[in-house]
Amino acid sequence: MEMTILENLHKPRKRLFIGLLAGSLLALVVLLGIMWYLFINRMYPFHRFLLVGILSAVILILIVIAVGIGGIVYTLWRSKTIPLGNLMRVPINVLFPVVITLGKILGFDKEKIRSSFVEVNNQLVKTRHPVVPPEKILILLPHCLQVNHCPHKVTVDVENCKRCGGCSVDSLMALKDRYGVKVAVATGGTLARKFVSEWKPKAVVAVACERDLTSGILDINPLPVLGVLNDRPNGPCFNTCVNINRVEEAIKYYLGED
Ligand code: SF4
Repeated sequence: MEMTILENLHKPRKRLFIGLLAGSLLALVVLLGIMWYLFINRMYPFHRFLLVGILSAVILILIVIAVGIGGIVYTLWRSKTIPLGNLMRVPINVLFPVVITLGKILGFDKEKIRSSFVEVNNQLVKTRHPVVPPEKILILLPHCLQVNHCPHKVTVDVENCKRCGGCSVDSLMALKDRYGVKVAVATGGTLARKFVSEWKPKAVVAVACERDLTSGILDINPLPVLGVLNDRPNGPCFNTCVNINRVEEAIKYYLGED
């Protein structure tokens, strides 16, 4: 699944998150410089020594973050991963709140930033080319996919679905049968984490809104998660649906069929 350099650089959704990530790092460096300028000459020698020690540690962390961002940009640009281990996760995990705050200050919609992050995450997962047996793939679904008048408790056990075709759960159960993957419906992050810790999957396909996908991906990394945004024709959290083809593509990707 090679992407051209041009395609990778011109994906505006990915560019937004990467731009804000780099901007956040720059903002922290500037802040650090201002602190240094304001305080260093007004301190007693001992306090100055202490400040230099703290700032040195912070600078070291910022260098690690900068290397991580460089790794992300290179990976997205060349569509292949580099052996930096989990170093590329450091800037995302550490700077994510700063990215959201900076984005808000600059007037970007929070959901757009999160959606951009999901794109970046999916691309990073794909460049690792994980090949996973079907029984180790977990499809995590939000409860709002189930039509609200359905009386069957699919959150207790997804097999309770009667496959009546009344909502997307039916088609997702068909994917479960076709590929032999696991499917779970979670009412929130706590239940989703419980499924992950009990079933110990090696890869996850998560369907959710921008907010839940973002927190889910951050929560369970370094486990690979391919995120698929749900469609919300009736507004948030109510009778939502999902593009089944995109879920199937993600399953096939993990199986090495795509
Ligand atoms: S497919 Fe039918 S039985 Fe299954 S969850 Fe949807 S409405 Fe309920």
